[in-house]
Amino acid sequence: MESMTKDDTVRLRKRHIGASCKLFFKHDPIKIVRAEGQYMYDEKDRPYLDCINNVAHVGHCHPTVVQAGVEQMSVLNTNSRFLHDNLVMCAKRLTSLFPSPLSVCFFVNSGSEANDLALRLARAHSKHHDVITLDHAYHGHVTSLIEISPYKFNQIGGGGKADHVHVAPCPDSYRGKYRDTDHGLDELGRKYAEDVKHIIAKARDGGRNIAAFISESLQSCGGQVILPPGYLKNVYRYVREAGGVCIADEVQVGFGRVGKHWWAFQLQGEDVIPDICTVGKPMGNGHPVAAVITTPEVAQSFANTGVEYFNTYGGNPVSCAIANAVLDVIEKDNLREKATRIGNYLMNILRQLMDKHPIIGDIRGIGLFIGIDLVKDRESREPATAEAQHIISRMKQEFILLSADGPHRNILKIKPPMVFSQKDADRVVATLDEVLTEMKQSGIDIMSDSSTKEGSVSPSERRKLIEDSIESEPHGKKQKIIKDSDGIKI
Ligand code: PMP
Repeated sequence: MESMTKDDTVRLRKRHIGASCKLFFKHDPIKIVRAEGQYMYDEKDRPYLDCINNVAHVGHCHPTVVQAGVEQMSVLNTNSRFLHDNLVMCAKRLTSLFPSPLSVCFFVNSGSEANDLALRLARAHSKHHDVITLDHAYHGHVTSLIEISPYKFNQIGGGGKADHVHVAPCPDSYRGKYRDTDHGLDELGRKYAEDVKHIIAKARDGGRNIAAFISESLQSCGGQVILPPGYLKNVYRYVREAGGVCIADEVQVGFGRVGKHWWAFQLQGEDVIPDICTVGKPMGNGHPVAAVITTPEVAQSFANTGVEYFNTYGGNPVSCAIANAVLDVIEKDNLREKATRIGNYLMNILRQLMDKHPIIGDIRGIGLFIGIDLVKDRESREPATAEAQHIISRMKQEFILLSADGPHRNILKIKPPMVFSQKDADRVVATLDEVLTEMKQSGIDIMSDSSTKEGSVSPSERRKLIEDSIESEPHGKKQKIIKDSDGIKI
């Protein structure tokens, strides 16, 4: 499978690929040549357990999905101006998974395209322009979305916040503005929602009107944040009262990852229904297909602008065949039920580690969307950023792929392909236990060379790790901050 040596691949990449396209583990990148289920194999055929790839939702290279793509590709692929059954069937199946009145689809090729189109729909419907977004949010790489992604625009060189963008505090009950130490969960939902209400009022006082409120239904880049109960219900009410539209970004968390429901916004209650929902990543299991699902009213407002929407590849017969196959597999293999079962099991055994390892401040998650918040001190909740980077690096040496996120890059995130098994969960936790024990035994101070025991990370490897980690402050507050071990923002 490998057509050139790893060194040659690195050399060619350096020469021809833009430097902003960062690699995971940039000082010792992994060359993956094939993948199957929850495993990715490098050029030496060494299997890595993939705990982070929520795109390969039903498992890497799932045969049903591959076959659907191959078969359709050998018959026809063309644009959506011709009638095709795959397109309408995909729209019918997808919308059947949403509560009424979300019944109209637009097919696109990526989460970014979906969110950009969602903004256009919201602006056409509300006739307003401004957007409320959550702190630390990431919604995509196109200009309109970098503008509403504090995760990006707050980085040094990120351009800063535009006037039409209003940033609401991330409703993170563990390390946000309001915390579970001072308030009950219901109160947290109300308090964070009230902040949005105040933002709307302030914008109006300044002569600005809100077109949309956008948030992930569980915030991923923000650090695997679970929205407190009542939050979306209240926020959606305030936003609608102000004539705005509510957008749920389910690009990361949709398609049953939370187990109990198809969509994570449903965790907030049956009566919580966005006006627009965007989906992507898992939808094609690695093939680029994404969608915007909205109400007939919002879709009609967009049509009323008189501007045709055409997308060369969006909704092509191959993409729709693949998306249909992904839905088949989720249903046939009971992957939602599995997400709940394995997710609960994994969180349970992770919580058992908390007695032994005070560095674990919080374990949170729903289904197979789990975060491990690492702290230097449980009381202050000071983020253990460098430690998180060390752990990721050690886990990689043990052939387990993890990554860290959140504003301090101290939250280990687990969002594996949904075929992740109980055995995989046991292995991750046992290895994590070993790594944490090893850190404790060596009295690890990962900023010094005396910190790791023989056979783990060498001093020079660690220096590279630190160089990788400490680059720029994402929020532009300090000169130095710790980035994700891979340096890549999703
Ligand atoms: N929304 C969220 C929540 C995301 O995490 C991402 C990508 N990481 C996007 C949108 C953009 O998706 P894409 O990279 O497919 O354009």
